[in-house]
Amino acid sequence: MSGHRQRRDLGSAPEAGGEVVRTGASLLPSRLFHEAVAQAQVAISITDASATILYANAAFGRITGYQPEEIIGHNEAFLSDHSTPREIYESLWSSIKSDRPWSGYLVNRHKTGARYLAELTITPVQAQDGSSYYLGMHRDVTPMHSLEQRVHNQKALIESVVDAASMPLVVLDEAGRVVLDNQAYKKLIGDFGVGEPAAEFLRLLQADMGPAFEAARSGGRGFERQEVMVGPPTSNRQRWFSCSGVWFRERDPSAEAFFHDRRQTYLLLVANEISHLKQQQEELYATALRALTAEQELVQSLQEALAGASFQFQGPLNLIGAATGILDRRVDACEDTAALQRVLRHALEAGREAQAMIRQSMPMRPPEAVTPVSFNGILRDVLSMYTNRLLAEGVVVDWRPAPQLPSTTGREGRLRGMFKQLVDNALDAIPLGRAAERELCIVTADTGDGILVRIDDNGPGIPEEDRLRVFEPFYTTKGAGGSGGMGLGMVQEVVAEHDGTVAVGRSDLGGCRVDLYFPLRRQVLGGP
Ligand code: FAD
Repeated sequence: MSGHRQRRDLGSAPEAGGEVVRTGASLLPSRLFHEAVAQAQVAISITDASATILYANAAFGRITGYQPEEIIGHNEAFLSDHSTPREIYESLWSSIKSDRPWSGYLVNRHKTGARYLAELTITPVQAQDGSSYYLGMHRDVTPMHSLEQRVHNQKALIESVVDAASMPLVVLDEAGRVVLDNQAYKKLIGDFGVGEPAAEFLRLLQADMGPAFEAARSGGRGFERQEVMVGPPTSNRQRWFSCSGVWFRERDPSAEAFFHDRRQTYLLLVANEISHLKQQQEELYATALRALTAEQELVQSLQEALAGASFQFQGPLNLIGAATGILDRRVDACEDTAALQRVLRHALEAGREAQAMIRQSMPMRPPEAVTPVSFNGILRDVLSMYTNRLLAEGVVVDWRPAPQLPSTTGREGRLRGMFKQLVDNALDAIPLGRAAERELCIVTADTGDGILVRIDDNGPGIPEEDRLRVFEPFYTTKGAGGSGGMGLGMVQEVVAEHDGTVAVGRSDLGGCRVDLYFPLRRQVLGGP
């Protein structure tokens, strides 16, 4: 509010006759100074040492509402609204009495009674005869003050609305710097631990949306409900956010941009956490998959049972066929033999009819279309179906998907059923092993010309001599009492449908290793 000690001399260095004033090297007519003060757009008053008004210019009249003749001889105090704190006046007077200029704000009252905010500067001046005067200059800054207050209030309102929002909200400038955020966002910074969550959201959005992100920015359209996943894909610390953003432009408030329409672009980004919803969705999806797979398994087991029955029929039919052949070739055929031949032929026919009926009643698998498939996605689905079993049986799963697998085509349902079969086999085998910790490891890899899926367990493994035979129907390594099925046979069938290979070996975990290789196929295949 106060400045340096600075008493000005009124009418300094007047030339002879008081007509001119020396300013540096020039001599200016003193009348010019009088006119400059009289015409100035700022309210100027000159008072004596006790603030009694001796002179006031036209602008003073316009701003206060009083004509000069109404105020000359009055104290400046008559302008006071009496709402300015006493300490302000004390500071004002203490400053000017010490010959220091004072600047500050006072609440004045216009002649009409309306209050206005005066931005006032008082400069002490001393005449050549030594008498003290005060030069007062003030302007009405009410509109600017109320504008400032409105901006301030709006900012406070926006900040409190933003802060009250339960979802993380952030405003970023063109350089990606956070210029405004809320409590929910600050909490997210704590949760993320390192780095700026907004930077991570932008990185993921740009990667997921591709050119659409830039198009949304340059077209000023923004984006809505773009889902992004934060956290390593293999961990259970993944968090899902639904992000919406809108770009807005603001005029550059700097002086250099006054004559040029320079604008800054900001992005308002809202990241609504949907991890819970996503988890529910995934559970529903896993349940639907389980139902679908159970239906496929039912068809599969019916096919297996009927194929088994047909297979069991074949042995006796072969024997009957052989016996009929022997009887046909006998030369000493008698009547009894002919009767036996008829019975046997009848039995053979009846047997073949029954076998044909069994084959006919085998449920047909509905044809499945070949579509683009994601091996990582299918394996993740299969693992999600087993979440409860894995937890219940205490099996630790080491799921290591390749970060990026080449695109290929296949029959998704068949592949899913096949991987489920392999995981089933591994989970059945693991408890039979002797390891204290139950482990299942699934790896996918890009081999350049195809995709490798490796499934390791730490069960008892498959002895080397059995590794080819396990693919035979109804073969089992479970020993006496163990029932074999078409499990690995079906695996081989599905692998062959995809032009792939399957090999069983010994796992580094100590149990069984199944390596499946699928060459890349981009063309769409025919029917099943
Ligand atoms: P006062 O009783 O007059 O003063 C309040 C306090 O001010 C006192 O306690 C005292 O500390 C101090 N004070 C007052 N007069 C003197 C003095 N002569 N010497 C030392 N200390 C003193 N006021 C406005 O409200 N609006 C204006 O636009 C305005 N313009 C001014 C322009 C000039 C050039 C000057 C010199 C003063 C101006 N003043 C203005 C101040 C004004 O003169 C009064 O001091 C103020 O209005 C307070 O008046 P008051 O009657 O409420 O209280």
